[in-house]
Amino acid sequence: MTQQPEPRPISVCVFCGSRPGESAQFAAAARDTGTRIALLGWQLVYGGGRAGLMGELADATLAAGGRVVGVIPQSLMQREQGHPGLSELHVVQTMHERKRLMAEHSDAFMALPGGIGTMEELFEVWTWRQLGYHDKPLGLLNIAGYYDKLLDFIEDSVAGRFLKREHSALLQVASDSATLLQRLGRLALGATAPDDYSST
Ligand code: AMP
Repeated sequence: MTQQPEPRPISVCVFCGSRPGESAQFAAAARDTGTRIALLGWQLVYGGGRAGLMGELADATLAAGGRVVGVIPQSLMQREQGHPGLSELHVVQTMHERKRLMAEHSDAFMALPGGIGTMEELFEVWTWRQLGYHDKPLGLLNIAGYYDKLLDFIEDSVAGRFLKREHSALLQVASDSATLLQRLGRLALGATAPDDYSST
């Protein structure tokens, strides 16, 4: 009998708010995402702070026995509360260094609810993908409809012919972390047709 090789652990980069947001559903989703990353045997890469949803996410991954890599600029150590309990904390000099290191350490990207920092980070990896700078999957966790209007605007952008449908479709969108992580995992491991997911 041939032994199936173990799938390689995935390193997923998660962008999320440095504030908790108005609804308790956001923190619950961050904890759920962190726990699932650990239970899948994946590694979390994130911004290295303890503030807001970032802290909820990292603490949940650690509590479930997962490995967490944080990358934080020295200048934000205080403001975003650099996390002392991570598997690895990289304290870097600039935001550009942070983004480069986070991207290099990751096989997939996802965003949870957050503010303009979160959106900037997601849009950057999305635009890099559009330009062919990488081929890693990316996703948006749309908790309690938080991103509905942003997604509507993306549709407007397609209708307005500033964004190709094939590029808007690069963003995986789901309202629960189990579904989104499963899609990102399959794509990161090289599965091709998004239609495959309907049977899972
Ligand atoms: P926010 O969503 O605004 O709470 O920010 C979430 C995270 O994004 C925080 O760790 C911020 O430091 C980070 N962030 C803010 N601005 C940027 C930026 N221009 N590039 C990358 N990360 C950023």
